[in-house]
Amino acid sequence: NSFGRPDEVVAAETLANHVRCNNSFVHAVFQAQFRSSLTCPRCQRQSNTFDPFLCVSVPVPQNQRRAIYVTVLYTSQQPRQVKLGLSLPIHAEVRELREQLASDTGIAEAHMLLTEVDDLGFHRTFADSQPVLSIKETDPVYCLELPQLKEATDDGGAAYVLLCWVNLLVVEDHCARFSSPYTMQVGRETSYEDLQKLILKEMNAVLHDDILVSSQDIPLFHMRIVDGLGDGSPTYLDPTLDHPLYMEAVEQALALCEEDAGPPHLKLVLEWDLQGKESTIADDSDQMEEHASVKQLKMSSEQGGAVTLEECFELYTRAEVLGAEDAWHCPNCNRKQEVVKKLGLWSLPDILVIHLKRFRQPSSKLRAPAKLTTLVDFPLYGFDMSPHLANRPSPPGNSVAPPGILGSPPGNGGVLGGLGWSPWKRPRRTPLRYDDNVYDLYAICNHHGQDLQGGHYTAYCRNPYDTQWYCFDDTRVDPVADTSLVTAAAYILFYQRRGLGTSYSSAASTSSSGSGGLEHWVCRMPAFTRSSKSQEELNHNG
Ligand SMILES: [Zn+2]
Repeated sequence: NSFGRPDEVVAAETLANHVRCNNSFVHAVFQAQFRSSLTCPRCQRQSNTFDPFLCVSVPVPQNQRRAIYVTVLYTSQQPRQVKLGLSLPIHAEVRELREQLASDTGIAEAHMLLTEVDDLGFHRTFADSQPVLSIKETDPVYCLELPQLKEATDDGGAAYVLLCWVNLLVVEDHCARFSSPYTMQVGRETSYEDLQKLILKEMNAVLHDDILVSSQDIPLFHMRIVDGLGDGSPTYLDPTLDHPLYMEAVEQALALCEEDAGPPHLKLVLEWDLQGKESTIADDSDQMEEHASVKQLKMSSEQGGAVTLEECFELYTRAEVLGAEDAWHCPNCNRKQEVVKKLGLWSLPDILVIHLKRFRQPSSKLRAPAKLTTLVDFPLYGFDMSPHLANRPSPPGNSVAPPGILGSPPGNGGVLGGLGWSPWKRPRRTPLRYDDNVYDLYAICNHHGQDLQGGHYTAYCRNPYDTQWYCFDDTRVDPVADTSLVTAAAYILFYQRRGLGTSYSSAASTSSSGSGGLEHWVCRMPAFTRSSKSQEELNHNG
């Protein structure tokens, strides 16, 4: 129980107890402590425990973003169709997609229709409150720019309706969409003949030269109403009516437009037969420009969405609320509480080993542990661990630890004797140097393969003498460029505290100095002596 006593005292005591039983060169080099704190959400009382570690296992955050590809259709801009790649937080709503599109395209949100258009016509129309998770990467999402709807005149005059349509060639039971989608607004009183003319005029750029000046069949194509219900037999605008846009099916389609899914509009599928299409349409291509963002997004998606080592540590030290099954008895409140747990590094070793948790715990849902192939971007040099310390360096002289806990050497003159750089001595080193928590990478263990049982291990190691990195792959050893070290295969990272060579060089008689402070810790290993005394001690301690 740590209540009432400063963390420094509890941490030092825990360490002392541990070192009494686990004292070795390995512990002196690789070991430090992490703090696990439980906080009562009711009274904020905190209970801390300290545990030693030789290796920090950090979780690999999973891609928190959704890649969405959107084809933007402009009303009056060239090129008319541009495909964009957008990345949104995975729990975002379509509202955020719309906002981002508005800022990327300059199309006002109020004039934007987000809908799916595939080879057969329209599918879903997206409303602001929908999660972006409902949109898959492969869904053909379109952002249609709609014209600003003219207001109906006060005297009950012309009302207008927004139209958007796609063209479909129907040959027997086979359909194929051609050209781009179109949008337009028309007066609701427009006759069928005029509507057909207006539609052709809008599509002028893809028609044969003389179409607009010659008379056309009525109907030249059939206009199917898309009502969003998708049930029953299809309804078409009736060419025999004076005002087909006042049909009940049109009224219903307008009424079914959701409030937060863009302006009310009527979607039509123009169904052409082969002869009508051939005689009218000169260019049936669906030209689209691809913005650079599409390629960028595809590349980053293939990497599974890279994360940084910083993000791994942030996730490792993030507070989490433990569930009811892990309820904790708060002695202050004298009741069981769902408690907030937070991990933090309390001290840092000279050699920091970081294990990336790429293998999920086997659960009942997953038969085999799936490997996370996310690329973790880790720094090679100058990795500052200060932000991840629960125990931020305090000004010297402020130590609350009683004498006898801190500063006294461990009770042995054997294994550590003469080395003088056990973690015990760290709190005494004052003043703290700015780079005390800065690390440089010197080795990487890579795992290749899909599971822990199989696969292949390779290592990248930096030779401290020639400062070159080498790849160790079974019997092969090849130089490797600094720029090729960060890969998705990286599994365990080995960092060395910066300045280790200089700060301990006087104490470590066996070390050789030089190599820019990146001297290898192995050089510090004490000479192995087989004296009966130390053997006894080892046996006793083991
Ligand atoms: Zn409490």
